[in-house]
Amino acid sequence: MSILVLGSGQLARMMSLAAAPIGVEVQAVDVSNHKIVDPVTKLASNHSLDKILQEVDAVTAEFEHIPEDLLATVHASGKLKPSAEAILTGADRVREKTLLEKLKIANCPFDIITNIEQLDAAVEKLGEQLIIKASRDGYDGYGQWRMQNKSELTTLKQTLSKLDLNKVPLVVEKMLNFERELSLVAVRSSEGQLAYYPLAENLHHQGQLHVSIAPATNVDEALNQQAQQIFNKLAESLDYVGVLAVEFFQLGDTLLVNEIAPRVHNSGHWTMQGADTCQFENHIRAVRGLPLGSTKVTSHTAMINIIGCSSFNRDMLSIPGCHLHWYGKNPRKKRKMGHFNLCADSYAELSKSIDRLSEYVP
Ligand code: ADP
Ligand code: MG
Repeated sequence: MSILVLGSGQLARMMSLAAAPIGVEVQAVDVSNHKIVDPVTKLASNHSLDKILQEVDAVTAEFEHIPEDLLATVHASGKLKPSAEAILTGADRVREKTLLEKLKIANCPFDIITNIEQLDAAVEKLGEQLIIKASRDGYDGYGQWRMQNKSELTTLKQTLSKLDLNKVPLVVEKMLNFERELSLVAVRSSEGQLAYYPLAENLHHQGQLHVSIAPATNVDEALNQQAQQIFNKLAESLDYVGVLAVEFFQLGDTLLVNEIAPRVHNSGHWTMQGADTCQFENHIRAVRGLPLGSTKVTSHTAMINIIGCSSFNRDMLSIPGCHLHWYGKNPRKKRKMGHFNLCADSYAELSKSIDRLSEYVP
């Protein structure tokens, strides 16, 4: 059994590591040059993409920004899961917003602009505190601009006028003063079987995820149900197969969808130690048509991203319940280099471990 992943970064690597014990071999394609590589060893294969597409049982993606021609080729193979439509929806904020509105799923108030002059009307409609997002190719807070008050409007317009808004429209959102950010990572099989991980609480810095705590504290049954019903609507409408992550803003008892990710997600990395079956294995199971694994929580877990640095003190591993996942990438500013999963039997213990870990951070 084998699977090809579009993209050869850490998510493909973690899919491969989770797939090995269940007898599924994972190969990856570098989307920039169509070279086939082993996502763990990075060794290149001399097989062509066409040949691999014939051989593998299924194809999936580790991220949604797949070049159009590659996506079309893979779609034509009939092996792509989730579908090209699902991937395109996650890749394009205009499509995403259109789907949320169609399904009447609560989301952040917004406007879509294809011309910089329309920004004035958006400010009138949404207020002066805005977050403006390029409809495509943004991630980890890239492709976003923030406006705190109207005095910044002229400069902002100058910056944005350099973009081709006809080609890549902007989604202008009201800057929300939410209580916290939560995400639901869940999985749907080709037979429609569903499995949900509990909501995780996510802490961001400059638009980038730093920490996830799972299960999130203070989540009642109603909130979990609300998140799961939103997932069900989205997954059914997209006839979705695989792991899908839904990012939420919590305002009181209400969840507003921020965005969806048609793939395994950084806020689900805690499942590698904190759940019976991790998100990577469940994604592989779904894509390969196998029964889904239990999503039962086995530990309170804090997932902490290691961002931008090339090395760190390995004594951190002496903290009880500390697990390291190092991706082996070249360091770059803001780049996700690895993550820790800190596990404990209670939130109190977890909080102590987080304090111990932070003592190592300069
Ligand atoms: P990305 O694709 O980069 O993850 P997001 O739309 O999720 O883009 O934005 C990144 C982060 O920026 C969010 O997790 C949140 O912290 C913040 N953010 C995004 N939209 C809003 C908003 N409308 N109001 C307040 N904060 C926001
Ligand atoms: Mg996001």
